[in-house]
Parts: sequence; structure tokens; C-alpha cells
Amino acid sequence: MTDAEQLTAALGYQGVPAQLLHTRRFEARPARFDDWPKQTPPALIDAFGASGLLRPWQHQVAAAQHALAGEHVVLATGTASGKSLGYQLPIATQLADGRSTALYLAPTKALGADQLGAWRALARDGATWLRASPYDGDTAPADRTWARQHANLVLTNPDMLHVGILPHHQRWAQFFRNLAYVVIDEAHVYRGVFGSHVAVLLRRLSRVVEHYRGAPPVFIGASATSGNPATAFSTLIGADATAITQDASPHGAVTVGFWETELTDKRGEHGAPIRRSATATGADLLTDFAIAGVRTIAFIRSRRGAEAMAQAASRQLAEVDPSLASRVSAYRAGYLPEERRAVETALKTGRLLGVSSTPALELGIDIAGLDAVVVAGWPGTRASFFQQLGRAGRAGQESWAVYVASDDPLDTYLLHHPDAVFDLAVEDTVIDPVNPHILGAHLCAASAELPLQPEDLARFGPEEQVRAVVDDLVEGGYLRRRPAGWFWTHPEHAAAMVSLRDDGGGPVDIVDVESGALLGSMGSPQTHYQAHPGAVYVHQGRTFLVEDLDEDAHVVMVSRAEPDYFTQARDITEIEILDTHEKRENLDKELVWATGAVKVTTQVVSFQRKALVSGEILGEEPLELAARDLFTTAVWFHAPSERLVAAGLTMDRLPGSLHAAEHAMIGLMPLVASNDRWDIGGVSMALHPDTGQPSVFVYDGHAGGAGFAQRGFAQAEVWLRATADAVRSCPCDQGCPACVQSPKCGNRNSPLDKAGAVTVLEFVLAGLQSSAR
Ligand SMILES: [Zn+2]
Ligand SMILES: [Zn+2]
Repeated sequence: MTDAEQLTAALGYQGVPAQLLHTRRFEARPARFDDWPKQTPPALIDAFGASGLLRPWQHQVAAAQHALAGEHVVLATGTASGKSLGYQLPIATQLADGRSTALYLAPTKALGADQLGAWRALARDGATWLRASPYDGDTAPADRTWARQHANLVLTNPDMLHVGILPHHQRWAQFFRNLAYVVIDEAHVYRGVFGSHVAVLLRRLSRVVEHYRGAPPVFIGASATSGNPATAFSTLIGADATAITQDASPHGAVTVGFWETELTDKRGEHGAPIRRSATATGADLLTDFAIAGVRTIAFIRSRRGAEAMAQAASRQLAEVDPSLASRVSAYRAGYLPEERRAVETALKTGRLLGVSSTPALELGIDIAGLDAVVVAGWPGTRASFFQQLGRAGRAGQESWAVYVASDDPLDTYLLHHPDAVFDLAVEDTVIDPVNPHILGAHLCAASAELPLQPEDLARFGPEEQVRAVVDDLVEGGYLRRRPAGWFWTHPEHAAAMVSLRDDGGGPVDIVDVESGALLGSMGSPQTHYQAHPGAVYVHQGRTFLVEDLDEDAHVVMVSRAEPDYFTQARDITEIEILDTHEKRENLDKELVWATGAVKVTTQVVSFQRKALVSGEILGEEPLELAARDLFTTAVWFHAPSERLVAAGLTMDRLPGSLHAAEHAMIGLMPLVASNDRWDIGGVSMALHPDTGQPSVFVYDGHAGGAGFAQRGFAQAEVWLRATADAVRSCPCDQGCPACVQSPKCGNRNSPLDKAGAVTVLEFVLAGLQSSAR
């Protein structure tokens, strides 16, 4: 049997359906062991042995040896490959000196709690010198004091390091004086704005540790497999690191299938063909695997999607056999630890045959060795994709994975180019630690920690750029220049002024109309998109309808509801070039490809209601909201219209061709920048006032930029080639959501010229080739 036949046989189908476009088989892999490093204390070897770990794998020992030699190292191997031993081993070995300390950072509390349990077990089983303690928002004051004074291993998260530890570093003097190691677990999670914040935070940490210890700590990272983990981790910590990527853990054979959703007879905007949604298709596959007795986990990005998929699968199973209906369940972030463990156990024992889950499960939760994985919609990065795939596969058995492409340009491209998923080594992590908005806030925090010295500037980025940010802060009255350095002289804690998880804008309160309860807050830039009147707002898995957005009072009023639709805002945008940072052009300037600072003015003009499972458009309503300005970075191109005409377009086709190219470029940018589609936007014009020419812009949706535009600029050829291929390989005639239509388009996807977009993109690619170095 071929791989495709085996996969479809596992689903219980007769013959290979047309939906299965590709398969890729990963052969079973045996374990490769190594000896414990010679420094390992015998008591530690016994402690590992007590939990059944008798011999380490090669990649674990390699990582430990780099760390023990004092080198920054990142271990980037598959799910369930025992990455935590890679840092537990060197840390527990070093801490046996009775003096050294280590700091562990996890992006989520659940993961930190799992790790705490593992360290305490090691201490109990013989590594008695280990004194691990949590230090987070939930830690009681007495326990915090104990942690500072007695723990030699502190488990926390970036947020707590930022506001709770570094600003009070004097109290941690003893701990920092002996800080040998810092663990960055799930390092691939730190990307975009959050990643940029964490990168600067780690530079602050290194500076404080150097102050006490005279040397920076050694950073040990654990990451999912991704394009270029050494570069990504080095950028994150601000120092050179080695990556260990050869996975020596055993794994069963896995066959991965790429699945195209079926065309329906429904028609969308401008008569575009509509496919069955990834959610509905994922539910079908979950159902069919369950009927065949194959234990499956299906991943989807949203919590409501996870709930909807489990419900749909349960309904379909009930039609086949009522006793099967209760054997699928949703499993998502927001569940209590006991609830999560119950689902995990039910899956292991086979009482549950299928679960639908949000990717939250990626973060260190213990489910592996399932028979099948369904990935409904591209999860955003290769790191996430492989982490999800890694849930399938038991030693000595066949297992299955199916990726269901959603209806958007990136998924369309990947569906037809599996090599871009499996073989293309574009680095996943994009961060911009020198974004002035992010850097400025952290330089204030750093100055409050220890006055900033001229020689400190270079550690935060290119010295000139950092100096410019510092000068602006002095001018704005944030910092004061004195002979001994730059000082923070305000009574407030500088760190408290910035959250690592949003990008500024005054917080808006979200209030439940019925109870008056404050549910949470939102940055004001997001409110027009997510909290306009009529929006469906999801908070910790519960759904609300927005009744009112009062911008003067900074309040959003919501009421509890269970609509079977979601909402999507649409905007119109203008853009102004403020400064060009870099550009490529050919000698006669027939094409300019550039990146730089821009002012973006957006106005949310309407929103659509879409059915939760099918994604079908139920209606569109206008909104009256004021336009807003955003100062950010963009990547753009422009060319004289006669050149585009010479390339095969006509003047009247220019607007639709540029517009379609813009939409598709936005859709494909995540391939090179690993952004969310919603992190960026675009503008196209047949005559842009600043360039005087036909122009297309793609901008970063975060104030100051999160690094996406620079990455797009640098990866021009890969990005545009993929965009052209995605548009060309879409089987529709005039454009559809899988190629050039955008759900966000405030111009209702008009005009759009699908064929013209390909002409424009090929023209730009040819121009870039002739401008090449
Ligand atoms: Zn199409
Ligand atoms: Zn548009």
C-alpha cells in the first residue's frame, strides 16, 4: 500500500479521496544513548534513575556539556524528546557545589508548575541539595522571602522577572551573585511584540547579574524544532548560542497528509467559490478516526473553534452510534489542572477517542504517543506545527497526522508546497529588540535598576540607535543625564509602566453589563477591531456581545451571549512615508523596494458576522468609528505605471491588480515573518502621493513595529515568489478567500484582479533580480 492508501485506510475510507494532495512519511527512529557527563554527581544519577531514567539520550548530554562548559546553548528537538533533562542535568550538577543558583523562566504558569514538581521529585529522590521554589503572582509573601533567601532554583515567568524581581534586585543580591544558569523554556514562543519585550528584559537581567557576579549567566534554551534555532536564540538572549538539533529519542513512524477542504456549492463575496471550513473538515476527520478506533487530537487556534469542533464531531458520532458521542471532548486553555489531567488520563486509557484542543496544549502538557493528530488550519509557525505533529507516534507503531488547509492564501500555498513546511529553513522567530517603543520603556526600567552607563548602550542594540532612544527619553523628561550616567528620577516604578504582553495604548476596561463586573482590559488600538458595538468578544472561553464602546470613558460594555457566529471588522487605510531606512532599486529606478517609518491611518468601517463552524458570511453592518493613527514600520514597492503596462497590464487594471497583490502579500507574509495575519495590514494605490507612482505597502500593526516589515524586506524573493505561486495555484477564476480576497478589506474586496496580481508580483520579482547586488 502507498502512504496515502495507508492513511486513508486508517480513516476507514475506501480509496484515496481527491482531498488528500500530499503525504510525507517519517520513518521510525531508534533511541541513541550516551553516558552521563563525568561531572554528574552519583546521587543525581540515582535520582534520575528513581524516575525510570537510566541512560540519557545523546542530545540531552550534548546540551548539558555545552552548558557545563559555560556556553549558551539551545536544545531544539521534538515533542517528548526529554528536553528538560538538557537543562536539569547541568543545573543540578552545578548546584551541587552548594553555592550556585539558577533561574527558570516559563511562558505559562502551567508549565512552571509541571517543572516545579519535577525538580522537587529530583530533590526527594536523592539530589537533596536542590531547593526549588516558585516565585510568581500566586506566591505568598512568606514563601517569597524564603525563595529569595534560601532557594537555589527559582521558577518564575518573564512578567514577574520584569515587575517583581529586577526592580528589587538588591533583595536578590545573594541569589544574583551566584546565578550560574538561566533557563528559557519554550523559547520559540518569544516572538513578535512579546518576544521583543522578553529579549530586552533578558539584556536587563544580564546587566544586573554582571553587576553582582562580574559575569553574565549562561542561558540554556529549550525550543520546538524550527528553522534556525541558533540564530533565533542568540537574538533573544543577545549573545552567541549553539543549537543542538539532532534528536536521539526514539519515535514511531508517522505519515503526514495534506488535506484540501471540499468546495461547496455556496458563493461568497463577488461570487467567489466557498470551501468547507477547516473547522468542519477537522470535525469530520476527528469523527472518522474515532469511528475507526484511532485515538486522535485535533488542534485549532481558537477556543471557540475547539468547542465547536468537539460538538460537531460528537453530533456526527451520535448519528453513527449514540454510545460514541461522549467519547470526544474539547480540551483547551482555561481548564483547571485537574480537568486537564482528567482529559489526559481518559485519552491515555482510551475512554476518550478524540479531543479538540487549542495550541495551549503545546506548552509542556503531557500528551504524547497518540495514534493520530489533525491540524485544522496552519498553526502560525513551523515550530508550532511540528510540536503538534509530535503528539502522534508511539514506538513500534504506525501513526497519522493530517494538516487541513484553511481558506486563506498561506494555507493554499503550503498545501501545494509541502517542501516549504518540511524543507525550507526560514527562521521562525522574528523579534525587534530595538523597536523604540519597546526599548524606551525598558531603558527607563534599566536606569531605575542601575544608572545606565555609556558602555551599557551597546548591549541593548546598535549603539547609535540606542543612544537616539536614550536622548529622546532625556528630552521627554523620563531620564536625567548626570555625570554618573542616566538616571530614572520619578517616584513610580519604571517597570510597572509597561506590560510585556501588549504594545501600549491606554487600557480600556471591559465590563459585564448585568453584573457590573470588570472582566478584563484591552489596549485601545484593539478596541475598534475587537470591541466595536455588535462584536463577539471572547474572554477566557466565555462569549460576550459588545453593547457599547465608550471611548471617552475608556469602557466597553458587554453582555453574556452564545451566538453561533463570530465577527470580523473591516477597515480602510491610508499611509504616509516618514522615512526610508533601506531600499533596493535598479539603475533606471524602474522599481523601488523599500522599508522604513510610516504613519498609518486606519478606520474600521464595518463588520461581518460569520457562522462559527462553516465560516459562511451571515451579514455585514456599517460602523461609525473615528480614524486612528499608528506610527510604525512598513515594507513597500513602487514603479512607474508605464513599466507595469509594459509588463502586460492596462491602466484601468492597475488598481485591482495592485489591490489583489497587496491582499495576497499580507496573506503570505507569515511564511517569512511568522506573524499572525492580524499583526499586519496593507495599502495599495495606483498613484500614491508620496511616491507619485503605483505603490503597494504592507505595514506592521504594532506601534514602532515588531520586526515583521524588516523581515519582509530582507526576504523579498521568498515572500513574493510564494505569493505569486499561491495566487497562481488557487483553482478559482476571479479570486476567492484562498487567494486574493481578504476578510479584513474595508473596500469589500473590490476591485480585485487575480491575474493582474500575478503580473505585478512577477514584475517586482524580475525587477529585484536585476537589482540584485
Ligand atoms: Zn482563489
Ligand atoms: Zn482590500
